[in-house]
Amino acid sequence: MLRLDHVDVCYGSFKALSDISMTVDTGELVVLLGANGAGKSTLFKAISGLVRPASGDIRFEDKHLNDMKASAVVSAGVVQCAEGRELFPQMSVLQNLMMGAYVHRRDSAGNKKRLNEVLELFPILNDKADQPAGSLSGGQQQMVAIGRAMMSRPRLLMLDEPSLGLAPLVVKQMFEIIQQINSLGTTVLLAEQNAFAALKIADRAYVMENGHLVLEGDREMMLGNEQVRKAYIGA
Ligand code: ATP
Repeated sequence: MLRLDHVDVCYGSFKALSDISMTVDTGELVVLLGANGAGKSTLFKAISGLVRPASGDIRFEDKHLNDMKASAVVSAGVVQCAEGRELFPQMSVLQNLMMGAYVHRRDSAGNKKRLNEVLELFPILNDKADQPAGSLSGGQQQMVAIGRAMMSRPRLLMLDEPSLGLAPLVVKQMFEIIQQINSLGTTVLLAEQNAFAALKIADRAYVMENGHLVLEGDREMMLGNEQVRKAYIGA
């Protein structure tokens, strides 16, 4: 579904991504592990069309994403839920969710159906629909951010650190919802620092260090790998 071949990304003279080759297959839940600054967000931005690779190729199904505008990448079915949520705090929860439906603005029946599906995933947002998004708890705001991304009807959903800053109980709930989104048919690429929880729901994972991919494997391999356990799980 998604394929990166030898992708480099530079910020001026600084090379943030070096020779990244990876795949995400249809239906998978793939986790990207890495410390702060390893390059996870840059990788997501390159796939989303927000930064341009200096070299290499990014393909989603039959489309080359390298030179596509970010809005065209969303229309192609690749939607990112950015780190930090980036909601419109004064606008209502419902208005925030509907921002995600902009790419499908001519299909109001489809948007209504999708909204019902999103509210089934996040029932609490139904109760809070008319409240300003900024008045919600951190966990609820993260739900709005994921819900908004789902309103764009992604075939590949990219989640950047969805558990950041959330209480442990809310983190658990968030990973359950991500797993549910995946099992309902959306392919997921998930960047996480919370390695153990992320690996438990993953099919496969990649590990990034200093802009390089250094390890790849399925869930069992990653959970059993000593290097991964020492660096990311702490056991
Ligand atoms: P985090 O989880 O902290 O966001 P990350 O793994 O997502 O970390 P990136 O944000 O992709 O890492 O950053 C990778 C490297 O690129 C870091 O060294 C960072 O300082 C650098 N970097 C990121 N954005 C820019 C930018 N706009 N200009 C220059 N350097 C940048």
